[in-house]
Amino acid sequence: MQEPIVTTSNTEPKRIAIIGATGSIGTQTLDIAARHPELYRPVVLTAGSKVDALAALCRVHKPRMAVIADESRYADLCRELKPLGIECAAGAEAMAEAAALPDVDMTVTATVGYSGLLPTIRAVEAGKEIALANKETLVVAGALIERLLEKSESKIYPVDSEHSAIYQCLQGEDRDKVSRLVITASGGPFRTWTKEQISRAKASDALKHPNWDMGAKITIDSATMMNKAFELIEARWLFGIGADRLSAVVHPQSIVHSMVEFSDGGMKAQLGVPDMHLPIAYALGCAERLPGAERPLSLADMATLTFEQPDEERFPCLTLADLALRRGGNTACVINAANEVAVAAYLHDRIGFYDIYRIICDTLERCAFIAAPGLSDYIQTNQTAREIAGTMI
Ligand code: NDP
Ligand code: MG
Repeated sequence: MQEPIVTTSNTEPKRIAIIGATGSIGTQTLDIAARHPELYRPVVLTAGSKVDALAALCRVHKPRMAVIADESRYADLCRELKPLGIECAAGAEAMAEAAALPDVDMTVTATVGYSGLLPTIRAVEAGKEIALANKETLVVAGALIERLLEKSESKIYPVDSEHSAIYQCLQGEDRDKVSRLVITASGGPFRTWTKEQISRAKASDALKHPNWDMGAKITIDSATMMNKAFELIEARWLFGIGADRLSAVVHPQSIVHSMVEFSDGGMKAQLGVPDMHLPIAYALGCAERLPGAERPLSLADMATLTFEQPDEERFPCLTLADLALRRGGNTACVINAANEVAVAAYLHDRIGFYDIYRIICDTLERCAFIAAPGLSDYIQTNQTAREIAGTMI
């Protein structure tokens, strides 16, 4: 018998807080909410420092509250939004609190880097539904988030396209029958470049991603394939699958978004055009499908779908996932912090492409290992690793 179709049309719209509303994921989330006002109502929007962009979004989407992480921009935010009756707040703590307000049903964590950690922790502790785009949260402190989730009503729905694909493939399946998760990677803009060419690549080259239009930091992470290492770590914590059963495969067309292999040798894959609207909509709907989230895929228009082994020689950052998962503790937190510092420097043409990997490895050597970190250890590790990495720029 067919299962009843659950619709939310007779209920109140889900009230969402978008942490990082001005970014690539944030604005696409707002697109979906605006197309479905019967389903979603943005009640809180936050940004890092871009007051003008945040104020413009608030004028259109009319949230109850706006938060700017950069406290020096608070007065500007108030001048723009208080006359509209929108409550204003500033600072990292206010942003974390906004992720867990009583009138928020779902928190979309769409800030970049380490800044996503505290809002996600607060949202988990407050039992919110979470649409998680900020993969760095699970990279930095996956074990802590896992422990917090065990004690909470909260549930995390992945936004990252690969993890959304795996989540979709796992529907109706017995988790014990999963033998392997295969995460696809586009290979980034340097997939066909020689190591010598890559070593001279500038940020302006790395920012030309062939398939995805994303924020600057994740676009550089895609070029180094650090993004894929992060996604392997993210998969470890989202799906409880160990490093020995996780792998990455390069798939330049970005049509197959990831795959699950089962114990009978069968594989399931999720396919679609490279467009984040679908995984965002799927997470917003808590794994319910929204019609027309994405334009349909025409397989007849696709000449071929190809797959190849990733090249760890040209993209050594990929090897850091295995290292982080085998060593555990605060290792991935160090890697993330050093990577953030190095990527910021690379974006300003202050270091070369392979300096990113070198800085991460040197920071790992110089940072104390903590086997079972708590939140304060992660905060301290993040700060220390940033300072160490900063001395190498
Ligand atoms: P963007 O750089 O486009 O946007 C980042 C958002 O976070 C902006 O709203 C920005 O505000 C805010 N922000 C930046 N720094 C801080 C800070 N220190 N404190 C508070 N807020 C801050 O990033 P993306 O949308 O591309 O990525 C967001 C997250 O989603 C990342 O973790 C990324 O890995 C992940 N992701 C992104 C995908 C994509 O397609 N873009 C795909 C899969 C995952 P402001 O505008 O003021 O700077
Ligand atoms: Mg991804």
